Amino acid sequence: MKRCFSTRQRRILAWVAAGRCAECGQPLEPDFHADHRIPFAHGGPTLLQNGQALCRPCNQRKGAQMPQPQLRPWQQDALRKALTWLVEARQDRRFLINAAPGAGKTRVSCVIAQTLLALGEIDRVIVIAPRAEVVNQWADDFRQVTGRYMSKVTARDGDIHGLGLDVCATWAAIQGLQDALQAMCGAARVLVICDEHHHAAVQAAWGEGADSAFAAAQFTLVLTGTPIRSDGAESVWLPYDDAGAIDYPEGGTYTLTYGEAVDLGYCRPVTFHRHEGRFTLDLDGGQTVQISGQQPATLPRPLARIPGLQRVLDFYRLACTPQYQADKQTPLATGYQASMIESAAQKLDDLRLRMPNAGGLIIAPSIEMAE
Ligand SMILES: [Zn+2]
Repeated sequence: MKRCFSTRQRRILAWVAAGRCAECGQPLEPDFHADHRIPFAHGGPTLLQNGQALCRPCNQRKGAQMPQPQLRPWQQDALRKALTWLVEARQDRRFLINAAPGAGKTRVSCVIAQTLLALGEIDRVIVIAPRAEVVNQWADDFRQVTGRYMSKVTARDGDIHGLGLDVCATWAAIQGLQDALQAMCGAARVLVICDEHHHAAVQAAWGEGADSAFAAAQFTLVLTGTPIRSDGAESVWLPYDDAGAIDYPEGGTYTLTYGEAVDLGYCRPVTFHRHEGRFTLDLDGGQTVQISGQQPATLPRPLARIPGLQRVLDFYRLACTPQYQADKQTPLATGYQASMIESAAQKLDDLRLRMPNAGGLIIAPSIEMAE
């Protein structure tokens, strides 16, 4: 989008203002400033809806008062692209932001909402988020950016008592609110923000209901960090292609890949260390068996005749069985899991020499094992 208003736009702005400064009311000189009400650097578009005619002194005063932009560069780009698609081109009422988790989708969405409110394009905002903790985060961020209170709905009982203008609800809670939301979208100009869009697909049992509840929404902002899905279920909001990827025009999409987010320092890179996972099993009577993920255990001759023993000594079965000391509570320090964790902790220490904020993630097969 162009940064400067065209000559024609300038003339229209001056004409709309009846030839007077929008701030102080003094007659405009020929060198008046065609001003972005929401600054261009904050994502404000170069549209008549966002323009005003200011005299030179008022423009300079405003420039000195404006706070620094609080958005990352990708967020400014996404904001501008969303406004171009939704407000200027009016191609479609939906816009898709596909960015890695942690890149800052919530914040840029709040700024898009704030900008649409300031431009007079919408009256109210509904956010749908996956979980209660995320709902709280949305309400906090939304208040910080827009100064507006956002009601939180996490119960499934459909109670609408005490709800304010703007609402953030979990995907599960939406089901009980469909009639209320449909009525609201019909009566007011609503921006619907659909967070973690792939959750909608998971709960697609009510997908069509959700579609109809929000069919009259003025705009829909779809956020995802997982643009591919594999369950083959019916999609909500956006079409998918045969490969399970979101199929939506490029102009209506902003994508920040995981690789880009890592390069920009918003996300940390993921590394996997291969570990062959060989260990020694001590049997009663002083015998030992080598267990490995590569091949079945080789048993000493007398043991090989015991039916089912080979199956009991399966690598994955043993690796996924917690080992305890005699009290059956204290994890065994020499056990397979403990030694794997120790090895992983050493790798993490090494990694932290290069990347001080590196973290580790253990994926366990069960809650018992995780604990
Ligand atoms: Zn003025």
